[in-house]
Amino acid sequence: MDAYNLHCIKPGSKVKLRDIDPSKTLGLQGPEDQERAAADALRDQNIGVMQQLQYRLWAEAKRSLLIVLQGMDCSGKDGTTRRVLGPLNPQGVRVSSFKKPTDEELSHDFLWRVHKVVPARGMIGVFNRSHYEDVLVVRVLNLVPKGEWSLRYDHINDFEKLLTESGTRILKFMLHISKDEQKERLQARLDDPEKGWKFALGDLDTRKRWDEYMDAYEAMLERCSTPEAPWFVIPADKKWYRNWAISSIVRRELELMDPKTPAMDAELKGLKIE
Ligand code: AMP
Ligand code: MG
Repeated sequence: MDAYNLHCIKPGSKVKLRDIDPSKTLGLQGPEDQERAAADALRDQNIGVMQQLQYRLWAEAKRSLLIVLQGMDCSGKDGTTRRVLGPLNPQGVRVSSFKKPTDEELSHDFLWRVHKVVPARGMIGVFNRSHYEDVLVVRVLNLVPKGEWSLRYDHINDFEKLLTESGTRILKFMLHISKDEQKERLQARLDDPEKGWKFALGDLDTRKRWDEYMDAYEAMLERCSTPEAPWFVIPADKKWYRNWAISSIVRRELELMDPKTPAMDAELKGLKIE
């Protein structure tokens, strides 16, 4: 199973989210909990490798990795951050969550607030929502005129090119859940006193516009999946599949980056501590 090739959006290809199964599994023989156990074991192996490579990325301090998480409400952005990226050393990770822009943010160009929090050399940056909201919610709700948001795909590609040419690798994950699964998860939030706070009435308006959001996601995937900064559509109805797929792709990327711990100073060689 090669999560990268299964889920990468090839640059320039057409995307029909309706044809991508959100409840995909590994396809192993046997009952689902057996498959889940196998996926969880692979996830843990991936995380173990990610931890070692994060140590070297930090020590090398030359390059960085940016992980972008997008998806509808309840698609698992918080869960992915906790389960897949939580085990990394927090010293080398910075998570940024993008909410409705403040007045100050709105008085600048849309990338201003984003550029300020991209990962520094040695760091792994995680975006929980991102600059892509500016071609998703902004497009669906007409928050700025079409003449303005339609230019943003090119602005985003140029911005990401600048980042990659400055040493940041970028992986972008769309967490793809079905409308039925979202219904279950939204209801569970309402029914659980520990989760109710996550529910916003506005989430229901967003849900009503599901098809418009899917159109906006498709445009984003088609226009902004590039060789340097690819988009992945991750089937996310099954959290264990999502965690396996994302950890596999992040692990692969860190292995390709192959960060190296710096060599020791020549004068330290053979030194004995008294
Ligand atoms: P949550 O992720 O549940 O905390 O919700 C954050 C909210 O902020 C979502 O409804 C997003 O659509 C909204 N949001 C994020 N970025 C933007 C943006 N650039 N313009 C308008 N709304 C945004
Ligand atoms: Mg929310």
